[in-house]
Amino acid sequence: MLEEINISTKERYQLIDITDSVEKIVKESGIKEGAALILVLHTSAALLLTENEEGLRKDWLDFLKELVSNFDFRHDKLDNNADSHIIAGLIGEEKIFPIKDGQIVRGLWQQIFLLELDGPRNRKIIVKII
Ligand code: ZN
Repeated sequence: MLEEINISTKERYQLIDITDSVEKIVKESGIKEGAALILVLHTSAALLLTENEEGLRKDWLDFLKELVSNFDFRHDKLDNNADSHIIAGLIGEEKIFPIKDGQIVRGLWQQIFLLELDGPRNRKIIVKII
């Protein structure tokens, strides 16, 4: 089965916790053992596992902005979002989790975030239960 999560982002750079949405899809699938593959269907957004703490969320966004701040990107002449593509590629656009006893297996502080890098936009994430 394949399910979609649709999110309208508000900021150019933004972290949105999608853990509850992913866990709801896994629960409703009825699958007890397997894996959940999560993929964001864009090249200017990514999926990040991190702790959901306000300071850390801001640290991530500030760090990533700084990381790409000193480049004269060629792609910016086309649509001014090379930073978004580069960070999305570095962080990665997919994650996979084991499913055990009907729930995804993740660490206590491993929340699943959509990392928006070129918002505001409508983003589509798919969850494939294997
Ligand atoms: Zn682009």
